[in-house]
Amino acid sequence: MTQFSDLGLDKALLKALAEEGYETPTPIQAQAIPGVLAARDLLGVAQTGTGKTAAFALPILQRLAAERKPAPRRGCRVLVLAPTRELATQIGESFKTYGRHLGLTTTVIFGGVKYGAQIKALAAGIDVLVATPGRLLDHLQEKMAVLNQTEVFVLDEADQMLDLGFLVPIRKIVAHLPKMRQNLFFSATMPDEIGKLAGELLRDPLKVSVAPQGTTAERVNQQVLFIETARKRALLTELFDEPGFSRVLVFTRTKRGADRVARSLEQAGVEAASIHGDKSQGQRERALASFKAGQVRALVATDIAARGIDIDSVTHVIQYELPNVPEAYVHRIGRTARAGAKGSAVAFCADDERNLLRDIQKVTRQTIPSFDRRNDKALGAATAAMPEPAGLRPERPERSAQPSRNGAPKSGARNKRGRSQGGGDQAQAKPAARGAGFKGPKRGGDGPARTGVWSNR
Ligand code: AMP
Repeated sequence: MTQFSDLGLDKALLKALAEEGYETPTPIQAQAIPGVLAARDLLGVAQTGTGKTAAFALPILQRLAAERKPAPRRGCRVLVLAPTRELATQIGESFKTYGRHLGLTTTVIFGGVKYGAQIKALAAGIDVLVATPGRLLDHLQEKMAVLNQTEVFVLDEADQMLDLGFLVPIRKIVAHLPKMRQNLFFSATMPDEIGKLAGELLRDPLKVSVAPQGTTAERVNQQVLFIETARKRALLTELFDEPGFSRVLVFTRTKRGADRVARSLEQAGVEAASIHGDKSQGQRERALASFKAGQVRALVATDIAARGIDIDSVTHVIQYELPNVPEAYVHRIGRTARAGAKGSAVAFCADDERNLLRDIQKVTRQTIPSFDRRNDKALGAATAAMPEPAGLRPERPERSAQPSRNGAPKSGARNKRGRSQGGGDQAQAKPAARGAGFKGPKRGGDGPARTGVWSNR
């Protein structure tokens, strides 16, 4: 099996990897690192969870360290574009972790926050700049950022960029880059427009494809529970009676639904937080941090808020509602079973969601084991206590990752709930096990400040 030391990586990088507990490269790392070190362009078809961040960060860091020079003023030697602030932050943290013995600078820039600190960080010049497209374009248009000396350009999660309407800003940013540069392009899927963009950007790229759709699905212990819409809350609360449900990501289709589910869990005595596009940056960061720290057991999220977020050791993924697009089912269950580990996923399916389930099974080419919890009397008592609120207008699924200014409702009062009466039947999923020797980077408390920029200067 390939070892990191076989890939031609510098001692300082190998030391950081050993400190992180990484033992062997993941397939995308083994395939991509030698080519990127040889200055080739790369087309990586891979989802988060495959180790793709290290696949580009390690050879880039090595290139910067091998050819040291001052970072250009108002510019950067390496530009990484990521679709969401959470993902940008994670990428920045990875660069910082892997490059901790190299003395290079990393800065993360995203929207929704003040400009001042970002302008200051840019002015001095940065080795690695990780940015979301909208805010970087603002800085370019204001001439606060200049990219004409950038040596490496990384576009991460290109398909999500497309979903979020970022293709125009990306093309405008690319126009600021010098012609001579190395390009690394990553996308989980390859819709036509993304293939076209890759064709425009890449020159004779090395092509690496890992974890095609379905691979994650095979690793995750999946089940579907048939349940009436009105009793989903009771069923959800019942699942949390299982001790193995310790770090659980719950998906809803709408932002308001996420808040409602988080509130009802809190009312049932389960610590919960929600994360979606109407939450402020501070609220999102706090929710993620307390989930990562194990202070809340349940993080309730919409698809857009959760995509790309790397949270280690998610024990279970619960789909409170099935997604409208079958591919989202695969992305959701991929939040557990990170990079080779096992995980469990439970999907609730009401009668009016049967057609969505059919589509999912068709796309993933599998029949998901199902259990019928409709008319299950054991859920009755809890259900009576927690009816679905009546009279709410239907809401459209969340479409944008850009938060609005609306404050999010506070979570409800905490009441200690009595034991449920429905535990112990076949519908309980088993807790997930993490693969031996597998560990993500230690995420410290040094994430982005309220200013939307952090660096390791
Ligand atoms: P990514 O696909 O880049 O989001 O990485 C997913 C997770 O895998 C992150 O928590 C990484 O820290 C972790 N990881 C990446 N490469 C390795 C490796 N070779 N060994 C162990 N963990 C890794």
